[in-house]
Amino acid sequence: MGKAYETVIGLEVHVELATKTKIFCSCGTEFGGAPNTHTCPVCTGMPGSLPVLNKQVVEYAMAVGLATNCDITRNGKFDRKNYFYPDNPQNYQISQLYKPICTNGYVEIKGDNGESKKVRIHEIHMEEDAGKLIHDDFNDCSLVDLNRSGVPLIEIVSEPDMRSADEVVAYLEKLRMIIQYLGASDCKLNEGSMRADVNLSVREVGADAYGTRTEMKNLNSFKAIARAIKNEQERQIDLIESGEKVVQETRRWDDAKEYSYAMRSKEDAQDYRYFPDPDLVPVIISEEWLEEVKSKEPEFRDEKMARYMEEFGLPEYDADIITLYKPLADLFEETVALGNKPKEVSNWIMGETMRLCKEESIDPDQIRFSATNLSKLIHLIEGSVINRGAAKEVFEEMFKSDIDPEAYVEEHGMKQDNDEDALREIVKKVIEENPKAVEDVRSGKDKAIGALVGQTMKATRGKANPAMVNKLLKEMI
Ligand code: ADP
Ligand code: MG
Ligand code: ZN
Repeated sequence: MGKAYETVIGLEVHVELATKTKIFCSCGTEFGGAPNTHTCPVCTGMPGSLPVLNKQVVEYAMAVGLATNCDITRNGKFDRKNYFYPDNPQNYQISQLYKPICTNGYVEIKGDNGESKKVRIHEIHMEEDAGKLIHDDFNDCSLVDLNRSGVPLIEIVSEPDMRSADEVVAYLEKLRMIIQYLGASDCKLNEGSMRADVNLSVREVGADAYGTRTEMKNLNSFKAIARAIKNEQERQIDLIESGEKVVQETRRWDDAKEYSYAMRSKEDAQDYRYFPDPDLVPVIISEEWLEEVKSKEPEFRDEKMARYMEEFGLPEYDADIITLYKPLADLFEETVALGNKPKEVSNWIMGETMRLCKEESIDPDQIRFSATNLSKLIHLIEGSVINRGAAKEVFEEMFKSDIDPEAYVEEHGMKQDNDEDALREIVKKVIEENPKAVEDVRSGKDKAIGALVGQTMKATRGKANPAMVNKLLKEMI
């Protein structure tokens, strides 16, 4: 008889903060750029250079802590985590071990049993990111790019409160939503601005103590996370069932091959020889400062949903989907502000946008088209410049590369033909050529008119105005 096992998961989530400059110097944080161009003596670890803390980093960390029900430390500080690696020019990372800025929080998710469940947050601390190594196989060497060195991060450490891949994804979606709403980060897993390390152990159902855990890295999407969890829980159960032990180690997930391999066994915290960073003053957070950050809290999802239903008359269903991702909500609001009908904008977001996101398997917060162009497209339909069939075609192009719909319609000769006399001739011909359908319409089968509309649209290569086609058909039959 196989035993029943339970999976226990805790996450360490790194989030790159959306500050303009790095955490301890005034270098820019933009992604990309020629290697080592966003650097200075501080973020390249030159002796004698001194770090100065970016106030915005502290405010973002506080805001995330407040939104996740944490206690905010009034008297924080930074520590050095010492290790050698070529992408870490100081030979230490400035982080927080002893006095993290936020502790003892939680977020609520929908648990496996369908009920609301709290996932506790042990702490959130601030730290700096490392640079990047680029391995050049051709010249058989590795190159160092320090543009990312010193980009601010927060690390959100959960308690081991999750029990399945579904709960992990729900937790990450919740964190992403909160942080996107705060504007503290864009939280893109595929670009690395949100990175989750999964700590996982298994134990027999009913056991008191947790099993030995492994930590898995290199997870770039929710799907990869779900696959990695399934694979790792099976691997651990197999080990235990065959009388072996799970080794506490860090493993790297290879999503293409769908397996993980050991990277290193877990170092003890003391291996890092943490000690307080003597170059930085303590971070004292006053009541006033905390109140000020609190007062700037944005409209979160629940309030936004209620407002969309109240102010724009959106159905709850629409409001629910649009507010799930802050960028979608922004797109909706900006397009409405450009003078479009809210329900019409919502229909394009809920319908075609979601359909194409699914088709191309991209998250809705990665859409590339602007509110300006969506607004133009809707205006083109409302002004009878193009019909809905053509609009869908234009939308697909817009979704791909944010083209300007007005220019595109012009260039591709897609304008709707509103010449009634010319259309009357075509309708006349369609009626002559389809006596059976015409007979059906005359004998009261209203649906038969659809076939005639279709024939007419085809004859005009999709450019006819469907309302006019309908009107003429009814008149002329
Ligand atoms: P360390 O200091 O060694 O990194 P932590 O106590 O900080 O360990 O835990 C790191 C992460 O691992 C946390 O998210 C925690 O919830 C999770 N974790 C700890 N023990 C277990 C376990 N037995 N099973 C699964 N996850 C665990
Ligand atoms: Mg840890
Ligand atoms: Zn710098």
